[in-house]
Amino acid sequence: MILPLLSPHRRDSGLLNLLAGGGVLVLLLAILTWDGLRDVVAELTGLSMARGEMLSLLALVAIAGLTVHLARRIWDMVPHARFSTEERRILRTLPQALARGEIQPHFQPVVDADTGQVVAVEALARWIKADGTILPPSQFIGLAERAGLIRLLTKGIVEHAVRTAAAWREHDLDIPISINLSVEDLEASDLVEHLIALCDRHGVPHGAIRVELTETQSIVHFDVVDRAVATLRQAGMAVYLDDFGTGYASLSVLHRIPFTGIKLDQSFIRRMREDPRADAIVRASVAIARDLGLALVAEGVEDSETRDRLGQLGVSHIQGYVYARPMPAHDIVHYTRQAQAAQNPAVQIQAVQIQAALTLSL
Ligand code: C2E
Ligand code: CA
Ligand code: CA
Repeated sequence: MILPLLSPHRRDSGLLNLLAGGGVLVLLLAILTWDGLRDVVAELTGLSMARGEMLSLLALVAIAGLTVHLARRIWDMVPHARFSTEERRILRTLPQALARGEIQPHFQPVVDADTGQVVAVEALARWIKADGTILPPSQFIGLAERAGLIRLLTKGIVEHAVRTAAAWREHDLDIPISINLSVEDLEASDLVEHLIALCDRHGVPHGAIRVELTETQSIVHFDVVDRAVATLRQAGMAVYLDDFGTGYASLSVLHRIPFTGIKLDQSFIRRMREDPRADAIVRASVAIARDLGLALVAEGVEDSETRDRLGQLGVSHIQGYVYARPMPAHDIVHYTRQAQAAQNPAVQIQAVQIQAALTLSL
């Protein structure tokens, strides 16, 4: 009965629970069986044994509980102690994977539903293992954030994205690439300057890179994020508030940070067909974007019915499986040229040549 009370953070280390619980048990047994210790405890707690053992016992349990709590706080500060065995395994291999270029972006088109043309692509991190298996970001991005490795990972993705933009431009493919940055990237590093310098070094115009800001619930220093976004925009990069409509991307963030546009969160988009409340939230978000003069992208659009409904609401920039899933850089070239060829068949032949060249150069 006592042990669970002494375990305020039961989610982590089973080993620590065991040690702490065992320690408390030994102490309790000792106090019940050893008069000398009882006297010491009575002395320490200021309670006389004559007033009853139970009081001393309760005081001891309280002290033990406090000790366990403090021990857990210290344990939490030890690097990696708060990760499971599997998470520690992933974290051990992550830096090497980054160095070997195994973590790289796939790209998902954003399509203008009115013209069928690709207007941008989003870079989405993938861990491509040596055996060809692909790990989605859900398995390592959050973990990298918790372990303080996200900036290293972001740098790798940013380098890949800028190099890809440079390669595409050499072949006259001028599609902006959106990069996901977390708040930590903007708050605590020189990443903004690094991104701008990287574009300059590779001859990529700043307008060819966009930024999507995720995890905005964790903004602590609004002034720092505000400055970083303003710097990016002055440099000519569009900055989008990601996951708009969720608690993570609130109206106050939109009010305080000078975004170029918003990305409507897929949780509402995917439900809007059968749920009038989701449809109402999308409608309201569209009105907010319009009134604030913000660009708008709807993501997670899986079917043509939802795409058409969004069209009725005035949303034409669509990202989702209804058009394409995220794909490697060279497949984007093919996809984009196919869309262009639907309007101009001469582009078709060029597409095959460019795709072959890029497969070699990327
Ligand atoms: P996100 O930024 O909201 O990205 C959109 C996610 O929705 C992607 O998942 C994409 O594959 C998925 N998606 C797109 N269209 C559809 C659709 O029609 N249906 C469904 N069911 N899903 C769709 P993904 O690639 O697994 O990425 C998950 C999240 O991981 C991203 O959400 C983003 O928050 C994070 N992430 C990905 N790459 C990076 C990165 O390089 N840096 C950072 N900081 N976060 C990243
Ligand atoms: Ca995103
Ligand atoms: Ca999103």
